[in-house]
Amino acid sequence: MKKIIVKFHNKQVKDYPIFIGNNLMKKIGSIFNLSSFSKVFVVTDQSINKLFLKKVLSKLPVNSEYIVLPSGEKEKNIESIETIWKVMLSSGCDRKSLVINLGGGVISDLGGFAATTFMRGVPFLNIPTTLLSQVDASVGGKNGINFSSVKNLIGTFNQPIGIICDTVFLKSLPNREFISGFGEIVKHGLIYDKSHFEFVTSKQPLEFNENELSEIIQKSIKIKVAIVSQDEKESAARRLVNFGHTIGHGVESLSLESKKSLLHGEAISIGMVIESQISQKLGLISQKNVELIKNSLKKIGLPVTILEFKPTAIIQKIKTDKKSERGKINWTLLKNIGQGICDQAVDEKLVREVLYESNH
Ligand code: NAD
Repeated sequence: MKKIIVKFHNKQVKDYPIFIGNNLMKKIGSIFNLSSFSKVFVVTDQSINKLFLKKVLSKLPVNSEYIVLPSGEKEKNIESIETIWKVMLSSGCDRKSLVINLGGGVISDLGGFAATTFMRGVPFLNIPTTLLSQVDASVGGKNGINFSSVKNLIGTFNQPIGIICDTVFLKSLPNREFISGFGEIVKHGLIYDKSHFEFVTSKQPLEFNENELSEIIQKSIKIKVAIVSQDEKESAARRLVNFGHTIGHGVESLSLESKKSLLHGEAISIGMVIESQISQKLGLISQKNVELIKNSLKKIGLPVTILEFKPTAIIQKIKTDKKSERGKINWTLLKNIGQGICDQAVDEKLVREVLYESNH
């Protein structure tokens, strides 16, 4: 078992541990002193209910309750939060309780937000069960919901008391979900570490053996931790992780309104290609590297074009993005492979031009 401590530069924010390993659920009682909480309340979804909930509950103190939400991004809404709050209230949760978010990024975003806002804050522990949530969504303390067709419009910054990344969960993950996790993994390499990018794109995701996968997960978590620990909130340094997410969130929101939804990592893959192309047009990154990024994502099995989405519709969506201030979007772009750059202004005409080229 590996342990990484998230140490914030801001000493007012509490440090917390991330445990990474195989079959960690057996040891949950010795990793965290759960008996010190008045109640343990597990938030999970239908897929996890069928696969693992019973087993996980059997490792928890007797005094635990749970809620099972329907699965999927469409459930990341205020109705789900209300449902969680109601069950927390009826089962007697208080500030001495612990919320455990057992699931993918949708569950950690929902459960983290519900816990943070209930009675002005109940502590929570993340047990991510998808690759994407292990390497990215569960780490960093951002949580929240989609609102009025805008991704993550409502939310809070609040850190978990810890994270347990048990790779045993990944065995049941459908291939498409597993590959989607590589969207954020590739992003970590692109913004921060060229050798990570080269390694994770050196073969197909399903070809990595267990040891290699464990290395990839650890490295990605370390990169995310190195970036987010500089500031709990969205400082310039932290905005690096937004690479691919301006276009990505726009495309993801549009896809949720269509019949064929994109997974988060898939939308981010499209976003990273478009934002690399924008970086190139601004003279930041070479054309050769843009081609390398696009071909590597394609080889992995992730989408790289904006598909049927119209440039105008995407631009409309990104105007509502949280990354905009006084009507201007703060773009995170690439200076090179392994080197992201924050707070870049990009002319709307240029964005339109790149989107139009990608559409043809
Ligand atoms: P998800 O939570 O929807 O999980 C994907 C699917 O896999 C779901 O149907 C789920 O039920 C199922 N599943 C989960 N674990 C499984 C397992 N072990 N075996 C089989 N099936 C399993 O999606 P995700 O990709 O984990 O997360 C995407 C979400 O994370 C998005 O909403 C995104 O905005 C958010 N996110 C948040 C942050 C953050 O910093 N807060 C960062 C990145 C992404």
